[in-house]
Amino acid sequence: MALANRVAEDQMTSQAVVGASKPGHLPRPSKSFSKGRTCAAPGCAKELSQYNRREKCWAHADMKVPRLRGRPTVTY
Ligand SMILES: [Zn+2]
Repeated sequence: MALANRVAEDQMTSQAVVGASKPGHLPRPSKSFSKGRTCAAPGCAKELSQYNRREKCWAHADMKVPRLRGRPTVTY
């Protein structure tokens, strides 16, 4: 019964593969954290930090900097 032997081998192989995969093995999420990334803003070539999760530099990031607000209006 060659067929039966083959099925048995497949089952053994499957179990072996499942047993080999350890739960602590995680793929490296280096797809969006690679080095050499630059700011996504047009015209900005500022290199982003490897640990910066944003697609833009701090100057072009989608964060609102209330620079003008709270500024005392100087009137002469
Ligand atoms: Zn930028």
